[in-house]
Amino acid sequence: MPTHKETEKGVSELLQLLFEKHHLSLSSYEKILRERTKEEEELARSLARECTEKHYGRGVYTRGLIEFTNFCKNNCHYCGIQRDNGEVERYRLSKEEILSCCEEGYRLGFRTFVMQGGEDPYFTDERIVDIVSAIRKAYPDCAITLSIGEKSGESYEKYFKAGVNRYLLRHETADEAHYQYLHPKELSWKKRMRCLKELKEIGFQVGCGFMVGSPGQTVKTLAKDLYFIQEFQPDMCGIGPFIPQHATKFAKEKAGSLGETLFLLALLRLIKPNLLLPATTALGTIDEHGRELGILSGANVLMPNLSPKEVRKKYLLYDNKICTGDESAQCKADLEKKMKAIGAELLVDRGDARKEKESESKRNRRTCCQREK
Ligand code: SF4
Repeated sequence: MPTHKETEKGVSELLQLLFEKHHLSLSSYEKILRERTKEEEELARSLARECTEKHYGRGVYTRGLIEFTNFCKNNCHYCGIQRDNGEVERYRLSKEEILSCCEEGYRLGFRTFVMQGGEDPYFTDERIVDIVSAIRKAYPDCAITLSIGEKSGESYEKYFKAGVNRYLLRHETADEAHYQYLHPKELSWKKRMRCLKELKEIGFQVGCGFMVGSPGQTVKTLAKDLYFIQEFQPDMCGIGPFIPQHATKFAKEKAGSLGETLFLLALLRLIKPNLLLPATTALGTIDEHGRELGILSGANVLMPNLSPKEVRKKYLLYDNKICTGDESAQCKADLEKKMKAIGAELLVDRGDARKEKESESKRNRRTCCQREK
């Protein structure tokens, strides 16, 4: 329920309140999403920038993304590599290929490896544990992230014990009916929510997320997403514009917009100041400067591709995806240049979420130092 004080506030005041308290009612989020003006979008982005700099400075964390299988047993309606898309040339990377991506990544300065793939039954728990253990042994100073969908709690436990630190599982939408609209009936929102809860309980740093402008999304469903993130308190949140893929049920739907995505990135930063928030490849796909603008709106993570060049064009979740023809070193060098141009810097760092207390005390320290001067 909105507090009495909240109901009386305009959008600018609500944004200011979110900046200070990081908490609003569901109806206040609806009001912000429905009534904000261009000036208020700019205010949100500037508050978000301030917030990011207080907690993380101007450094940007990087993660090396390894798309290791494009086989999937599911048929999510929006996804280009869904099971029934016969146009996709399927591939799987071997353990040796994955390790060689890590080797290249380490050399380039990555200290987090993200293994991402469809829900591919070939990669049994045994195989995943074998690969992860090998990465853990070879790179004890790096974080390992898995993003391989819905599994049982026992499977998640095994991955955690093998050395996986983080798990990304987009919640897609916090509205159950909307979830059903985006997915075939064998997939369930309740199960997705249960997986996220289990991952957190096991001790992973957990990432959720959603597409901006996905078919069927409304102000109400988006407000629920923001409220869900406020309550769930994930360590990471991946959002990017929905981009239609020509062979899917949603081929003719409109793509999500740059402005809306940037505004939502800013709101997420205000909701959780220490959130790990990527400026996604999808954002860079809808606009040449999308990722820079994402960083300037509160994002602090980039996930360049470390997959072998030969397979990148086969991992097309949506049309016109960028960076499918470049070498990993090229992707990294381009991003370095782009970040430099906006006064940001790519860090060689695992990039764990700063604990609230830690970042809070850092802020206090900085304030003290400033006072001393
Ligand atoms: S979104 Fe993920 S689970 Fe769904 S079809 Fe695509 S790869 Fe498979």
